[in-house]
Amino acid sequence: MDKKNIDWANLGFSYIETDKRYVANFKNGEWEEGALIDDPNITMSECAGVLQYAQTIFEGLKAYITKDGKIVTFRPDLNAQRLEDSAKRLEMPVFPKERFVKAVEETIRANAAYVPPYGSGATLYVRPYMFGINPVIGVKPADEYQFRVFTTPVGPYFKGGAKPLTLCVSDFDRAAPRGTGGIKAGLNYAMSLHAIITAHKNGFDENMYLDSETRTKVEETGGANFIFITKDNTVVTPSSDTILPSITRRSLVYVAEHYLGLKVEERTVYLDEIKDFAECGICGTAAVISPVGKVVDHENEICFPSGMEKMGPVTQKLYDTLTGIQMGHIEAPKGWIKVVE
Ligand SMILES: *Cc1c(COP(=O)(O)O)cnc(C)c1O
Repeated sequence: MDKKNIDWANLGFSYIETDKRYVANFKNGEWEEGALIDDPNITMSECAGVLQYAQTIFEGLKAYITKDGKIVTFRPDLNAQRLEDSAKRLEMPVFPKERFVKAVEETIRANAAYVPPYGSGATLYVRPYMFGINPVIGVKPADEYQFRVFTTPVGPYFKGGAKPLTLCVSDFDRAAPRGTGGIKAGLNYAMSLHAIITAHKNGFDENMYLDSETRTKVEETGGANFIFITKDNTVVTPSSDTILPSITRRSLVYVAEHYLGLKVEERTVYLDEIKDFAECGICGTAAVISPVGKVVDHENEICFPSGMEKMGPVTQKLYDTLTGIQMGHIEAPKGWIKVVE
């Protein structure tokens, strides 16, 4: 397979059109057979449900090449399950999990020339999503939906090493109690845009969101879950129904317990205890883990002992082990690595 002529090392994180995308339509109460198509554009009614009432959900995963030259994805079955959970919460039809995984694989295979070479640090980002497409004017769920998968090559997340981030405790809330914070829906991102632009204007990299009921508990950032390390090397990660269940975080918890022999606590984490942690990181598919050096809560600055130069030592071990598993240097737990080609 000839690779496309792309400067892999200097790719950013922006959309680049690839050759094929997968489309399946839901009509008359059932999913039609899907297909790979060439056209990257979508034509729909001006009154489509997604345009009026934001009925749209998505997933994100990566395809990449392992040490032994295979194109693989990481735990796509969990993305399939999460899309199902998101669909149910927004009254959308479930796209069958086996079909989800097959569609992801087919789309990657059809765009294999865009999977960056092993060792480049770049990956092929895979975006499955589903939205209401028929006209909806009275507020109700759509009757017709489209499920799609496209791919786009993205660059190495950290060019020249992972610099610790500075976060601010946001004055905005991300998720309502008993709301939709636990699903991967576009609506959660639409309302986070003002908060992230505000954070950037104030010189911060990301927001730390608190629970909106009491504003005393740490939830997550706009698109990544927190992990903390205590001074005696316990991994602590916030648990709450309003946190999006990150696949990276769940994998790191497993790695901490089963590969590194660390104690893990998944529990409520209060803002006023984070000053006692030794390390902090945020995790998600894109960067695996980004280290956090500092959290600014208005006039109160919390600086983690790991500092502003590099990842903390336990965070680094977690990062190295999980990326080692992903890249095929370290044996993976059964079912984690799905070979596509
Ligand atoms: C996607 C997402 C994450 C990260 O999840 P991964 O499965 O690890 O990529 C975290 N928080 C939010 C709000 C997200 O949408």
